[in-house]
Amino acid sequence: VDGERHDFIVVGGGSAGCVVASRLSEINDWKVLLLEAGGEEPPQADVPAFIPLNWETRFDWQYQTEPEDGYCGGKSCTWNAGKVLGGGSILNGMIYNRGNARCYDKWKELGNDGWGFEDVLPYFKKSENNRDPSRAANTNYHAVGGLLNVQRFSYQDKNVQLLMDAFQELGYKDVDINGGTQTGTTLLQFTQKDGRRMSTNRAFIAPFRNKRKNLKVVTNVRVTKVLIEPNSKTAYGVEYASERHRHVTGKAYVNKEVIVSSGALKSPHVLMLSGIGPRSTLSSAGIDVIMDLPVGKNLQDHVTCVGPQLKVEGKQQTLSSNQNIIRHFREYVRNHKGPFSAPGSLQVSAYIKSRYADPAIDFPDIQYFLPSQAVFNTSTGQIRLNTPFCEYNRIYFQPSVMLEKSIGYITIRNKDPFLQPVIVPNYFKNIEDLNVIIDACNFVAKNLSNTKVLKDAGVYLDTRPLPDCAHLEFGTDDYWACLGRNYTETLHHFSGTCKMGPDSDPEAVLDPQLRVRGVKHLRVVDASIIPTLGNSNTNAPVIMIAEKASDMIKEAWQ
Ligand SMILES: Cc1cc2nc3c(=O)[nH]c(=O)nc-3n(C[C@H](O)[C@H](O)[C@H](O)COP(=O)(O)OP(=O)(O)OC[C@H]3O[C@@H](n4cnc5c(N)ncnc54)[C@H](O)[C@@H]3O)c2cc1C
Repeated sequence: VDGERHDFIVVGGGSAGCVVASRLSEINDWKVLLLEAGGEEPPQADVPAFIPLNWETRFDWQYQTEPEDGYCGGKSCTWNAGKVLGGGSILNGMIYNRGNARCYDKWKELGNDGWGFEDVLPYFKKSENNRDPSRAANTNYHAVGGLLNVQRFSYQDKNVQLLMDAFQELGYKDVDINGGTQTGTTLLQFTQKDGRRMSTNRAFIAPFRNKRKNLKVVTNVRVTKVLIEPNSKTAYGVEYASERHRHVTGKAYVNKEVIVSSGALKSPHVLMLSGIGPRSTLSSAGIDVIMDLPVGKNLQDHVTCVGPQLKVEGKQQTLSSNQNIIRHFREYVRNHKGPFSAPGSLQVSAYIKSRYADPAIDFPDIQYFLPSQAVFNTSTGQIRLNTPFCEYNRIYFQPSVMLEKSIGYITIRNKDPFLQPVIVPNYFKNIEDLNVIIDACNFVAKNLSNTKVLKDAGVYLDTRPLPDCAHLEFGTDDYWACLGRNYTETLHHFSGTCKMGPDSDPEAVLDPQLRVRGVKHLRVVDASIIPTLGNSNTNAPVIMIAEKASDMIKEAWQ
């Protein structure tokens, strides 16, 4: 790669970068180079029952937040993020969720022309190959024929329908959350194909990688700097280092643009190392300032915690003997079917409203995610680690704050490109976020766990307090707040750190065409561009952003 010249260099092959590199290389005359710091997609990422298997491995950046009072028990929280071709789409829960139309209309209201829901819907549909006929039939919202397979899992255990029935007993209808109604319960759709993960690498890069001569993909290479001519402020290439042999460095050049798609935690890092960021931060790190911009501010996420747990015992538990686990695994290897082909109770989700949501409109601010757990010593609550999601006797509700009001920031420690950035999420700085957690926990403990369907099935609330909150009475608001503060979790929806906005917005790093303000031939395309985080998971929105950005870039250069 050293010394090579391409039309476009895409920095980071994650959810967004794979889409951008794929779409730009559709133009035969354009040479596209995709540089990814991580390695190739590993086969174990396929298995839906083993979603967390690659977390905290070499496929994960394993960021640590700064320890702060008030969340994560006063310690660091680990923020997982994909360091692999496919990025977050390799580590993620595969949930396909676009978010409320109002979230995108807000982007437009903020002055981002072309980003209202009606504008972005065609780009969601462009990628989509919806394989569930009942969903696909709603052609206002869904499409078939795109590169990204979206479908439900065909394997559902006995608790999946039970959980949906419980929500329905309380009046929450079974809805298509990507089809115009969010409030309700849903059997989620996933970015998967017939029981195997469909990452953006698999959907957008693999089919073309060795076929398009104009697309070059290089892994295990970390971009350490975007090269910018200081007088004209024009990006002309990148500097990189080998991940394995960091002293091996090189440069590659562009005829047209550098597109930074390194994710919301690394794109600001790359920009700052390149001289784009807050003047005071860059100066104290000894970096020459090319452009003084508020890079790294506006860090947004969806905070959640280990919430109320349901005891799923007796006939409802799904634990099997070792012999059966091996049989299920063999079945999966043979034909991608059986319990390993699905993530257990995580297939069910629901949107409800906290005290802050407008009861009159369909704009919920709480979403439940329902991961399962295997507790093998029920007196101590000891958890069986690395158990596949399909093997469980507990379901825990993640009471997720989907319209979070607290905003954090990310910055550099110094100019060493290999040092992890400083991450301060500021969870619960706005106390309303903690109240949303309380409302979400109360709903499960007081309403959902008392439904007839759950009681008839022998599924009950686990009223054993978690150790760090055992000094408080279980089920009180103080107890739930304690869970929020001490058992804090992230949904890994980091975004907003290179926010787009109109000229009038002093916080905007990018214009609505995603060009870095004041710098030519440089764009950011990934979760960092999001001005205000919507009320959904972020993979589908990021893929939409990348589809739209690719068209903008094509329009600009064709
Ligand atoms: C554990 C987890 C679970 C999640 N679950 C869901 C879910 O179920 N549904 C959902 O919709 N969303 C989910 N998300 C969120 C979603 O996957 C992310 O928002 C999305 O993948 C972000 O895409 P991105 O392109 O912005 O960044 P990424 O996908 O993180 O891509 C950035 C890429 O750039 C590379 N990179 C970084 N720095 C450099 C550099 N200097 N040089 C070269 N390459 C670099 C990285 O290695 C990475 O591959 C989850 C995320 C995680 C981590």
